[in-house]
Amino acid sequence: MREWKTVIGLEVHAEMETESKMFSSCPVVDSVEAAPNSAADHLSLGMPGTLPVINMRAMEYGIMAGLALNCEIPPINQFARKNYFYPDLPKGYQISQYDRPLAVNGYVNIDSGGGGTKKIRVRRAHMEEDTGKLSHVLGGSLVDYNRAGVPLLEIVSEPDMSSAEEAASYARKLRSILRYLGVNSGDMSKGVLRFEANVSVMHESDTELRERTEIKNLNSIRNMARAIEYEVRRQIKLYRSGETVKPATLGWDEAGQRITVQRYKERADEYRYFPEPDLPIVEVSREWVEALRAKLPALPDELQRKYEEDYGLSVDDAAVLTAERAVARYFEAVVECGAEAKSAANWLTTELFRLMNSNEIEREDIGGIPIDASSFAGLLALAREGVINQSTARKQVLPVMWETGREARAIVDERGLAQVSDAGLIGDTVDQVLSANGDMVERYLAGNEKVINAIFGRIMGALRGKGDPAIVREILLKRLESLKE
Ligand code: ADP
Ligand code: MG
Repeated sequence: MREWKTVIGLEVHAEMETESKMFSSCPVVDSVEAAPNSAADHLSLGMPGTLPVINMRAMEYGIMAGLALNCEIPPINQFARKNYFYPDLPKGYQISQYDRPLAVNGYVNIDSGGGGTKKIRVRRAHMEEDTGKLSHVLGGSLVDYNRAGVPLLEIVSEPDMSSAEEAASYARKLRSILRYLGVNSGDMSKGVLRFEANVSVMHESDTELRERTEIKNLNSIRNMARAIEYEVRRQIKLYRSGETVKPATLGWDEAGQRITVQRYKERADEYRYFPEPDLPIVEVSREWVEALRAKLPALPDELQRKYEEDYGLSVDDAAVLTAERAVARYFEAVVECGAEAKSAANWLTTELFRLMNSNEIEREDIGGIPIDASSFAGLLALAREGVINQSTARKQVLPVMWETGREARAIVDERGLAQVSDAGLIGDTVDQVLSANGDMVERYLAGNEKVINAIFGRIMGALRGKGDPAIVREILLKRLESLKE
């Protein structure tokens, strides 16, 4: 596969989390919970004689997303009709934007592995309305118009991604940014964020891009990555056997883990776009743009830089902590409670995430876990002050905090978990363990240095895990040294 390079461009559809639809006051409802067609007014149903009105909140969300994606916001944007027939589109056209989109020429920084970042250019982002949703059942098809007319932002990248991992990384970053802005929940299982991958491969001797295919119906980032990998292999195989790749719309069959061809297209779809006559041109004043820019929260890249520079965190830790706004907030709250940033980052990304994973709690729900930021900082303080050692903190206190929601201090006091740093007591214990394990001592004296760890383990066991490891090690080494003489 060496001589073949992968080329990927993504088209992302993000529903804007507004109260009402893009062009009417009809409410936007949850796609899973609401009864089908319970939120479908005359406009959603495409009744003749209805007139659309632009939802300005949706436009603001779109502009904010454009700004967060480092786009330029042109002073004018305009809606256009995209004409095609499909049962989920009762008007026979979708109101979209064509040659005057809301946002252009942006970029997103993605993590390209090994601590590096790569810029993925965003060609454009435009506003449109979502279509209804078809489900195919035995004996026919059903259509739900609740989704018809929901504000949708389509974000189109340049073909800048060169692997399935980069595409997944870009998708995660976009999702993260939209969630930070609060304009989209990122809940892919509900279809509020949808990805289409355009894929082609290039031979190393090529000077131009080759024909691409477009994979639709990707309902998770993981499936998208798998579908891209499959498609890349399929295209390389075709070229190797002397065939060509025909432009096509493909689907991902999740159950079969394979690509299915939905339709071949010989040339670009002809949608007969024309300016939407029922809507005015939208003028976007610079004052409006700046007012919206001022409303943007600190975004993941900015926080990541801050965590690296101010807190000295590694690129990886900073990236993990900033991917979800709720995690960043939790981390900052722990630090504000006095915890040392590096150790807070370390404990959070290892111990706390492990507990969350085993309890199947998503990172974004960290705000609701049984251990709040100040309790977590309390545990770290006990460990730092040496009241308990690291392993007691990890194995004996943290799990109980999770189970009971109690403070670390109370658990340590009640269970007598405080660290033993009394050199006299530790010395006696070391002596007892050494005399009870003469065989180990002999092996040590015969040159086996590794046996020290086993002896150390016995001593810690005798101290019920509570010994101050540094003191235990120091006394143990001294005693062993003196035995050599
Ligand atoms: P259209 O307007 O027909 O949908 P575009 O040229 O606007 O086509 O591209 C749509 C998407 O496909 C963009 O995300 C773009 O980056 C991507 N793309 C275009 N050409 C290729 C290619 N040869 N390989 C992979 N992706 C491509
Ligand atoms: Mg397209």
